[in-house]
Amino acid sequence: MALRREYDKEICPVARSLEVVGERWTLLIVRDAFYGVQRFTDFRAHLDIPSAVLTERLKLLVDHEILATSIGTSGRDEYLLTPKGEQLWPIVWAMMHWGNEYYVTEELRRPIVHYGCGGQLTPLGNCGRCGTVPSPRDLEVHPRASEPKAAGRDDRVSRLLTRPHRMLEPLTEVA
Ligand SMILES: [Zn+2]
Repeated sequence: MALRREYDKEICPVARSLEVVGERWTLLIVRDAFYGVQRFTDFRAHLDIPSAVLTERLKLLVDHEILATSIGTSGRDEYLLTPKGEQLWPIVWAMMHWGNEYYVTEELRRPIVHYGCGGQLTPLGNCGRCGTVPSPRDLEVHPRASEPKAAGRDDRVSRLLTRPHRMLEPLTEVA
């Protein structure tokens, strides 16, 4: 449910941002879009989210021009981050880092690596090796050291993320 609109919230940028990306699932959809997920069926299977909720969240993201649709090779809609959507990367990364730090053991973290450099992203979002702040397109998501046994995830996205993957490039099967 959206936050109630009140005057003090109208001028608070955090409240305004949360109205758009603060609902359950929304930032996870954005995270998956950074991982290269583009198809409705892939979001649904990877997030294990009801279709109706996913439809609603995708519509919100498209309405706010965070995602844009295009017709994919399959003839179905695909969802891609817009430049405005890509600017959510520091927020997604900050939540990843904070969550890792306090709630996720090391072997279950997905390292985020500066592509072509090999340095890991620091908490501040710059590369630990060369110091630059890579754009998400220059990052690679690496597999976890060990996949959680209990989860038993065998959806297409989980499978494809068991090898290094360049961010924002569509997740495609290995030939
Ligand atoms: Zn680097």
